[in-house]
Amino acid sequence: MKTKIIDGKKLAATIRAQLKEQVEQFSRAPKLAVVLVGDNPASQIYVRHKMKSAAEVGIEVDLFHLSPVLTQDSLISFIRELNQNKTVDGIIVQLPLPSHLDAFKVLETIDPEKDVDGLCSSNLGKLFTGRPGLVPCTPLACMELIHQVCPNLEGLQAVVVGRSCLVGKPVGQLLLESQCTITQAHSHTQRLAEVCKTADILVVAAGHPHLIGREHVKPGAVIIDVGINRNADGKICGDVDFDAVQGVAGAITPVPGGVGPMTVTMLLSNVVKVYVQKNIKKKA
Ligand code: NDP
Repeated sequence: MKTKIIDGKKLAATIRAQLKEQVEQFSRAPKLAVVLVGDNPASQIYVRHKMKSAAEVGIEVDLFHLSPVLTQDSLISFIRELNQNKTVDGIIVQLPLPSHLDAFKVLETIDPEKDVDGLCSSNLGKLFTGRPGLVPCTPLACMELIHQVCPNLEGLQAVVVGRSCLVGKPVGQLLLESQCTITQAHSHTQRLAEVCKTADILVVAAGHPHLIGREHVKPGAVIIDVGINRNADGKICGDVDFDAVQGVAGAITPVPGGVGPMTVTMLLSNVVKVYVQKNIKKKA
């Protein structure tokens, strides 16, 4: 069997082109506020990617690069001001935050209607109770990629490796909503290979290079590799041994070029969604 490569970069470019067309119809550019605290080099790269992609679709970005010694109270006050600012449609706080700041409390401060990363407990609560809200970007990206090769998920067995609030838990919930039967694996799961081998859809978000090999994969399975790691040579790699699963997996996302570019695009899609909903409300 030839394993299909699910090209996240190409799909992301297609979706961005659609978003651009949509934004061109708006009476003003949607605005995203990006809050970056400190000088984490990886965060700076991620923020640059987000700004570049946003510009491509016509979303305006205000970047607030704040001091690494900023206090929790000052950061919270700053976010409250952004919440009040009517020209700002979406707000993200780039993670990780410096260790003296409480990321949970900071994310909880963002107005749920502007929380385009979908990470505050109000939006996660809506996801888990089946109500409309803003859904986290990486799980949305995983679903878009799965749908490229598997439009109907009804009755399929899905295994998610990882149970973080950022990726594992919400992607499990989205798969459940799509009528999959789900198993959520984590670091205490016994016989991981056996568990993974039951999966028609295998989503891996553990942060361990090459955790998943050929022995974990059911023939024909669709694999979404969320992991971003550096291997011994300093190269970016996923959680799945990409070469080892060739010929057994039905389809797989590459790293880089799979979930990463789609995650950024889903952020832009959430900003557009907020803009549209705001304008519907205004008209009502
Ligand atoms: P976390 O560290 O928050 O969670 C990792 C999860 O994997 C935990 O639930 C952990 O289990 C589980 N896990 C760790 N080791 C094993 C193991 N040996 N066997 C089974 N399960 C294991 O990470 P995130 O969810 O934030 O991110 C996961 C990966 O995805 C990282 O590589 C990250 O860089 C990447 N990522 C990529 C994105 C993209 O856009 N492509 C976006 C976000 C993340 P336990 O709960 O028991 O500790």
